Amino acid sequence: EPVPSAEMDGFCRIFGVETEYGVAVTGANKPVDAGQVAMTMFQPIVSRSRSTNTYLANGSRLYLDVGSHPEYATAEARDPREALAQDLAGERVMRHLALKAQAKLRESYGEQATIHVFKNNVDSAGHAFGCHENYLVRRFVPLETIEHQLLPFLITRQLFTGAGRMAQDGFQITQRADFLDEAVSSATTRSRPMVNTRDEPHADPDSFRRLHVIIGDSNRSQWATWMKLAVTHLVLCVIEESFRRGEPSGFEEWAFADPAAANRAVSRFLDEPNAALALASGESVSALALQRRYYAAAESFVAAHREAMDAAFTAGASVTEHSEDATADLPTAVVLGEWNRALDTLAQGDYDALADRVDWAAKKRVFDAMRRRKPDISLAQLEQLELDYHDIANGRLYGSLTMRGQMKQLLAADEVEHAVHEAPQDTRAALRGRFVEAALASGSQFSADWTHLTVTAPERHEAVLLDPFAFKPTPEFAALMESLK
Ligand code: ATP
Ligand code: MG
Ligand code: MG
Repeated sequence: EPVPSAEMDGFCRIFGVETEYGVAVTGANKPVDAGQVAMTMFQPIVSRSRSTNTYLANGSRLYLDVGSHPEYATAEARDPREALAQDLAGERVMRHLALKAQAKLRESYGEQATIHVFKNNVDSAGHAFGCHENYLVRRFVPLETIEHQLLPFLITRQLFTGAGRMAQDGFQITQRADFLDEAVSSATTRSRPMVNTRDEPHADPDSFRRLHVIIGDSNRSQWATWMKLAVTHLVLCVIEESFRRGEPSGFEEWAFADPAAANRAVSRFLDEPNAALALASGESVSALALQRRYYAAAESFVAAHREAMDAAFTAGASVTEHSEDATADLPTAVVLGEWNRALDTLAQGDYDALADRVDWAAKKRVFDAMRRRKPDISLAQLEQLELDYHDIANGRLYGSLTMRGQMKQLLAADEVEHAVHEAPQDTRAALRGRFVEAALASGSQFSADWTHLTVTAPERHEAVLLDPFAFKPTPEFAALMESLK
C-alpha cells in the first residue's frame, strides 16, 4: 500500500517536458532520407542499450520511434527552472548525437552533408509534431474540471509562449494552430487529446494524475520554457485548491464557445490584437483580457498563500537580475512580475520589447530587420532563416542572438552542462540517474521506465519508484544497487 505523499498537502508539483525534434539533411551528394539520419544519430544508443529507447544517467528518456522524430523526455523536476535545465540538456544531447552522425555521414555523402535538428513543431511537408508538458495534478480534481478551466488559459498563454511561424498567409504567433483543430476542439469531448488519452500517472493512481498538455509550442527561449511551466503551475494551484475547499475558482465561465476557432484567432494575434473571442457563456473577450483575468486570480491567490507557494519553487527565483527589494526576488513575485510585464507590453503593442524572451517576437524582429535591409526578400528565404533559428545542431541565428545579449539567458552554460550528467536531486529521477550510471559502469543488462528500475541479467532485481517526489534510497533500491557490484 503506497503511503499518500506528504506533497499532496502543499503546492508541490512534478514537471516534465517531452520534446520531439525534426531531422533533415542538406548538402549531401546523393539522396539520404531523414529516417536514415535519425537512425545514424541513434547508433551509439542502440549499441549501448540494444534499443532506440533508453534512459540516461540524468534520469531522462531518449528515444526514437519509427520515422525521424527523436524525442527527449526530461527527468521529473520539482521546479520549472530545473525542468528548463533538463530540457536544455536534451538539446545538448541531441546536438552531440547529430554532430557525431554528421561526421559519419560525411564519409559516404560528402563533406558538405549537414544535419539539421529542429526544435520546432512543423516540418516542411506540413506535418506537426509535439512538445508535451507534463504536470502532476491531484486526483481528487476531476479531469473535466481541469480541462474546462485550463484550456482557455493554455490557448491565450500562447501570447507569450508561442514560437511563431512564417505561414503562407502571414506571420502567426504559434507554430501549430492550423494543425491543432482536432486536439483543441475535441478537448471538450470524450477523446480529449489536449491531455493524454491514456491514464498513465507514473505515480500512485489513487492520489495523482499526470496532466499531459499537448497544445504548446517547443521553445528556444529559456524564458518561455520556464514561464509556460511556472504560470501553468500557478493556475493549476488555483484550480486544485478551490476544488479542495469546495469553492469556485472563478474560471468556471471562461470556456471558449469554439476553442479551435479561438486558438486560430490567438495565433493571428498580430492581425487583430483585440479580436473578440466568444465564450460559451455568451460573453466576448480578447485574448489579452482573458490572460489578465487569469493573472488577477493567480495574483490574489499567491497573496493568500505566499509562503507555501514560494516553498514549492525549490530552485528559487529564475530571472537573473536581482532587485533591491528582497521580496521582489521571491519566486512567485518573479513569475507574476514577468507575466504582468509581458501582458502590459503586449497591450502596448511594443513587441520588440519582448524580443529577448518571447520566441515569436524574437523571430519577428529578425524578419522585420531583414525586410528593411532587403525589401525583395522571398518567403522561402525567410523560411530558411526561421528554420535556422530552430536548428539546435547547426543553426547560427539563435546562438548569435544570445551572444549579442539579445536573448535572455536564465541559466549559465555550466548549469546546463551539469544537467546533461545529473538528474534533479529532489525527485526519484536522482535514483534513476544513479542506477543508470552504475548499470552502465558495470556492464549489466538493465531496463528502466519512469516507475521501475530493473537489472535483467544474470539475476533479476527490481526497484519500484512509485512516488515521484521520493528521492531517498529505499532498502529495495539499495539491494538493486548492491546487485550491480
Ligand atoms: P508519448 O511520447 O507517447 O506521449 P508519454 O507522454 O506517456 O509518451 P514519455 O515520453 O515517457 O511519456 O514522457 C513522460 C514525461 O512525464 C517525462 O518528461 C517525465 O519526467 C514526466 N513524468 C513522469 N512521471 C510523472 C508524474 N508522475 N507527473 C508528471 N510528470 C511525470
Ligand atoms: Mg513522449
Ligand atoms: Mg507525451
